[in-house]
Amino acid sequence: MTEAFVGLGANLGDKDATLHAALAALAALPGTRLLAASGFYRSAPVEASGPEYLNAVACIETELPAETLLDALQAIEQAHGRERPYINAPRTLDMDLLLYGDQSVATPRLTVPHPRMTQRAFVLLPLLEIAPGRQDLAAHLLTLADQRIERQ
Ligand code: AMP
Repeated sequence: MTEAFVGLGANLGDKDATLHAALAALAALPGTRLLAASGFYRSAPVEASGPEYLNAVACIETELPAETLLDALQAIEQAHGRERPYINAPRTLDMDLLLYGDQSVATPRLTVPHPRMTQRAFVLLPLLEIAPGRQDLAAHLLTLADQRIERQ
């Protein structure tokens, strides 16, 4: 079993319902248990325009190998996150594998730890809420004070 952290973000449609559905889908994955979920945070888009995001971080325990877990996250994105008003409409749900145990992964499809997680307050704040021991990550928050974020 490996403890993993997953970042969730929604910025279209019923964001609250989308995040709840995504968390339920995570909990229902084979060989996987949802250990903790953060509260939901409203954040301004980083390096993008458009509506405000709703973000959360989940901690799971899983038997799935990292790339299988990525497949599962992408399937949840497809199943729960995509409104289909027209072809290639914007995604309503983004799921990122942030941490997979203490492992580093570098394959064409997957980089873990997620390479941009330490630059994003919308990842770090919810992650620290459910993993307060990660003071190594907390230090990065000090540099991100310009990113607007509030707990819902
Ligand atoms: P995005 O559209 O931003 O969700 O990016 C998805 C792409 O990033 C996919 O093609 C994944 O294969 C790739 N990727 C690389 N590392 C990760 C990661 N740690 N979590 C999620 N997707 C990843």
